[in-house]
Amino acid sequence: MRRSTDLDPAGQRVLLSNDLGDYAVLDRPTHEATLAGNIDPSHPRYRDLEARSLLEDLPLSQRHDLEKAAYATRKAFALEGPSLHIFVVTLRCDHSCQYCQVSRAAVNAQGFDMSPRNAADAVERVFESPSDNLTIEFQGGEPALRFDLVREIVGLALARNSEAQKRLTFSMVSTLHHLTDADLEFCRDHNIRLSTSIDGPADLHDGHRPNPTRDSWARTIAALRRAQAIMGEDAVSALPTLTRRALADPRRLIDHYRDLGFPSIFLRPISPYGFARKTRRAIGYEMGEFLTFYEQALDYILELNTSGEPFEETYASILLRHILTPFHSGYVDLRSPAGAGLGVLVYNYDGQVYPADEARMAAETGDTRFSMGHVSRPFSELMSSPAMQWLAAGSVAEVLPGCSTCAFVPFCGADPVYHATVQGDPIGDRETSDFCLKHKSLFTLLFNRLADADQDTLSTFTAWAFRKPRGGLVRPGHVDR
Ligand code: SF4
Repeated sequence: MRRSTDLDPAGQRVLLSNDLGDYAVLDRPTHEATLAGNIDPSHPRYRDLEARSLLEDLPLSQRHDLEKAAYATRKAFALEGPSLHIFVVTLRCDHSCQYCQVSRAAVNAQGFDMSPRNAADAVERVFESPSDNLTIEFQGGEPALRFDLVREIVGLALARNSEAQKRLTFSMVSTLHHLTDADLEFCRDHNIRLSTSIDGPADLHDGHRPNPTRDSWARTIAALRRAQAIMGEDAVSALPTLTRRALADPRRLIDHYRDLGFPSIFLRPISPYGFARKTRRAIGYEMGEFLTFYEQALDYILELNTSGEPFEETYASILLRHILTPFHSGYVDLRSPAGAGLGVLVYNYDGQVYPADEARMAAETGDTRFSMGHVSRPFSELMSSPAMQWLAAGSVAEVLPGCSTCAFVPFCGADPVYHATVQGDPIGDRETSDFCLKHKSLFTLLFNRLADADQDTLSTFTAWAFRKPRGGLVRPGHVDR
């Protein structure tokens, strides 16, 4: 099926795409002639449109086998089963971050740690997943407060995998503060990748992320350096949570990441989950404000790349991989069928299993519709739970109202948990959805930049999409094998 979406307010530049992810940016007359089926073979875009299977509006069933294979490659994740398994080993944390109020418990609170029984059951559920690639990610709260349990789960998973022989990896999201040198050596020896939060320079970071000694930034940086010394430079990545204050100065935030030696930054708007309404008023913002910030940030990062400094914006890379390559990025939060439950499972400290971390956070605020059941139940029962059946209605973007006619849909995804949480049902309303506004705006920005065909921008975008250095490109838009 072909779909069209305007890329400018006047409708003079139009994106035409098909189910296979082939696309062309056309001027209005060429677009109209293409849809009407009367574009002349001598037209300069004719061969291009023919090569991209955009001259005809064929259903997938009538496509050539090679085209069906390309579609299968793009959607290969759909048959894999959950590969990301998040273990919330404790809800306790010594930080009281403004944007994480409902997702933590006080550091000395009782009854917020995962029991050894639930941890062992969760490992069994992980290995019941049909996926050949399994990642166990430790989250909290602050998972380092229960590093003993992390060690136990790693041991159980490795023992289980000696028979299962899957590609098993580990990661942990942590402030890093509580990890001892011995813990870091364990992470190094078991390839546990670490990810931490750095919201910007000390004033920004400490303003949002108060810890008891009011020195969260300094402790994070000291722990980061210690972890890098023990585990290697690339073993730790960082992610900012963007509050209203951070949006004011994109260069300052990006420069901070450069100063710390990170090769990339992942710019995402603050999540609508997990914090109280009055806090949202203080630190939140409209999606339009984020998009203005994002374009400024992207322009600055493109300038850096043009001047010879490779630096990546991770979300643009994910979207460009969907646009420019036949492959999916693997990012579970932007795919169709949605990643909720089908790509990721969350094992909460209390034994409840959720299809996404956002669903777990919604449950913490009292919205228990997302629980798939208790971790002691078999994988098949969890996957066929009423929660999964309910979310399925909003899990396939290609058939959702609004998405079904949107030319961005081959590159976009469905987020039934977001729409159920914010709009009340998993299908949602694209007209008023911030998820849709964000993606429509980012795709419009990226497709316009691709159509502008600035050689430096094309080099950078191609390098990001194919995960190659710019030096590995023959010329913009082409990758050297
Ligand atoms: S969410 Fe919005 S941008 Fe994405 S496919 Fe649906 S309508 Fe298009």
